[in-house]
Amino acid sequence: MHGEHDPRECSENFLSGALDLLEVDDELRHLLRGPFREVALELPLRRDDDSLSVFHGYRVQHDHSRGPFKGGFRFHPEMDMDHSRGLASVMTWKTAVVDIPMGGAKGGIDCDPSELSRGELETLTKRFVQKLGPLLGPDVDIPAPDVGTGPREMAWIYAGYARTHEMDAPGVVTGKPLELGGSLGRTEATGRGVAMVTEWACEAEGIDPEGATVAIQGFGNVGSHLARFLDDLGATVVAVSDVGGGLHRDDGLDVETLFRQMNVEDSIDTVVESDVPHDSISNEELLALDVDVLIPAALEGVIHGDNVDDVRADLVVEAANLPTTCDADRALAERGISLVPDILANAGGVTVSYLEWVQNRQRYRWSEERVNGELRDFMREAWEDVSERASGEDVTYRRAAYATAVERVREATRLRGF
Ligand code: GLU
Repeated sequence: MHGEHDPRECSENFLSGALDLLEVDDELRHLLRGPFREVALELPLRRDDDSLSVFHGYRVQHDHSRGPFKGGFRFHPEMDMDHSRGLASVMTWKTAVVDIPMGGAKGGIDCDPSELSRGELETLTKRFVQKLGPLLGPDVDIPAPDVGTGPREMAWIYAGYARTHEMDAPGVVTGKPLELGGSLGRTEATGRGVAMVTEWACEAEGIDPEGATVAIQGFGNVGSHLARFLDDLGATVVAVSDVGGGLHRDDGLDVETLFRQMNVEDSIDTVVESDVPHDSISNEELLALDVDVLIPAALEGVIHGDNVDDVRADLVVEAANLPTTCDADRALAERGISLVPDILANAGGVTVSYLEWVQNRQRYRWSEERVNGELRDFMREAWEDVSERASGEDVTYRRAAYATAVERVREATRLRGF
């Protein structure tokens, strides 16, 4: 569904609900809505076969009233300015919900990484960093992994920045390999945080997390780690999927074996029945399963007006960014299906990014235990802020999360003066 709905319109709509709830005046509304800065760049690349391809790089810096801009670089063929705008705004509210001293940004390149060689990708990434010039920096704007990028690309960003600025500043990017100043626990952090919030939300909604049935759409970095954490918790992961299709088993899938297999396989539909017993299932069928918890963990806009009536889960937890369109969000709320929004559910990733940045500034490495403990504290506090507000004011978790975030950003904006 990537690209078929308007992520910018959805994020604005979610924000408007909170602005109304808090009775924010028009001047401030204007400031909180719009981005601080938007950049679009042409990125010509001489290909290995000597032909020329022209890609486009985007960076939207939404808000920095609470600290430097923060958010991922996405490499995806449908990446564009509107996706960057919507997702950058989501980052502003996400960093505010978990109360880390950072703002929000997002960007990336409209390329399909699977169609580029390693060398081509490295050149493209470093050129993007070079062209962004002073707009990136450890106290300015700090990218991180997102869809289509990971530690390898973050290493190139670090190196590209070091070369362009003749300075070694590991805090310019997070999600780096451990050898280059990455943090223990960063790779698993988003999945770990989603699992924590899922457990707490289940308890709040009267679902026993041990034995709860869960369907996860997406088995990339977030979905695969999440499946393992939920399995450890005693939940029954009955279905997982990726772009190639999905696997389903009423008694629960063998998540550990699947996780190991996916390190060698490219796509979930090549996993054989003998290793991981399953029935095949499509992505649309997965979304309609009669499970306790449904977790979209891939791209945006997958739960939309045309399929929302098929959702039969009692609880939806958004591990992806903007996976539910605004009309589907309303429909779920009307049917009494609870939903934990992206800005809370998947904030574990940016939280450990922040912890990585702190370690980089200290030129020190924390133990994994310390990182995971701090992550848990941030997530727990955010969950309590949001869930108490949701029950106290009788609003959805989404409305409560946005209101909590907007209050913090509004206060920082007001104190700075404008
Ligand atoms: N791309 C991730 C997100 O959407 C991580 C961002 C970061 O660590 O800065 O939250």
